Amino acid sequence: METWDVLHYTFIGLTSVGVIGSAYLIALDGVQKIFGSDIFHKKIESQKDLDKSIKEEAEKLGLENLVINSKLYFDITTQVQRKGAEYMIQINKDENPTVSFVRHEMYHIYKGDCERKNSWIRYLLIEEPRAMLYGCFKIKI
Ligand SMILES: [Zn+2]
Repeated sequence: METWDVLHYTFIGLTSVGVIGSAYLIALDGVQKIFGSDIFHKKIESQKDLDKSIKEEAEKLGLENLVINSKLYFDITTQVQRKGAEYMIQINKDENPTVSFVRHEMYHIYKGDCERKNSWIRYLLIEEPRAMLYGCFKIKI
């Protein structure tokens, strides 16, 4: 192959990965927006709702012995983090959160995702889709 061919195919390859990767992320986000919405799940309207939901979901996953703190915020990313021996779930009130959001973050804890080192590939291809499946449809994989 000539240098030009190599560059040409490299360009096509990278473009394909970019296009497929973007479509994948949009699809993943879209599924969560629709199937995680208040059409299918109870809304989280207050800190009291959130606390109750965390307690219920912890019992379902057998995580009731863990210390899981939570807070409703405006203008932040919904996420879960491990802080020492405790977990902190932050839920963005602007995203119109439902029980599905809580279930999604709890599944990250259940699967030990908070204990692992950050790897974007693992996060996007394994951790996020399985948390999404559990959050939206209660499917455990
Ligand atoms: Zn997630």
